[in-house]
Amino acid sequence: MPHPIRLSDFLDSPGPDRAAVLADLDGCLLSGETVLPDVPRLLARCGDRLWIVSNNSTDTAQTLAVRLARLGLPVPAGRILLAGEMTLRTLQAERPGARVALFAASPLQVLACALGLYPDRRRPDLMVIARDTGLSFDDLAEIIALAHAGVPVRLTNPDITHPGADGTPCPETGALWAAVTAAVPRAAAVSLGKPAPDLLRRALRRAGVAPRDAVFIGDTPETDGAAAAAAGVDFVLLARPGAPARDLLQREASSC
Ligand SMILES: [Mg+2]
Repeated sequence: MPHPIRLSDFLDSPGPDRAAVLADLDGCLLSGETVLPDVPRLLARCGDRLWIVSNNSTDTAQTLAVRLARLGLPVPAGRILLAGEMTLRTLQAERPGARVALFAASPLQVLACALGLYPDRRRPDLMVIARDTGLSFDDLAEIIALAHAGVPVRLTNPDITHPGADGTPCPETGALWAAVTAAVPRAAAVSLGKPAPDLLRRALRRAGVAPRDAVFIGDTPETDGAAAAAAGVDFVLLARPGAPARDLLQREASSC
């Protein structure tokens, strides 16, 4: 596994000069609603070569672009690829007009309607599970009942948690799925989110850049690193805020 480095170290390397710089969002650019150190420098250095590739399944690219702009990070929606949105767009392309039991926050609900996916929790063709902080116990019971009935599942992303502003783990879609499979152990889900390479491949296709000419910076080896490896893109592991970076690790090792 690569050693984690700080974003400032990455900025001092040739990495940001690649034809495309793909970046994870939570723990790399943002922590909660806080912009992490040196991220404005990253945007200034990379300009339109910077792409956000995130397992976020709460926002759409449009809603996230607005949120980022408010935080002083002007990244247009066209350079933001998100697992939740990609799941719905892929579904619309594969099964236009499908009847979908969608468990998601309102930006994805609105997008599903705009794409022509038909909301139906009684007799759905399939179920989509995204991150919805308004999800209730009754919703969980509905999800479990549908999984028990054998309704195919698209899980936006398998992450168990993402780091909150102070490092406290925030439950993610994978934690919800763990609750579902605790109740229905035979349930299986398909996910296009990282560690699958789909988000990265889509970003590179949109950028017109070959994998060897790109780099991906992320804070989670199990998802970001694995997705980079599967897409054939060089990976740089960033230290999470408050976590020791490589120079600190080396200093600690040499003092032992
Ligand atoms: Mg992350």
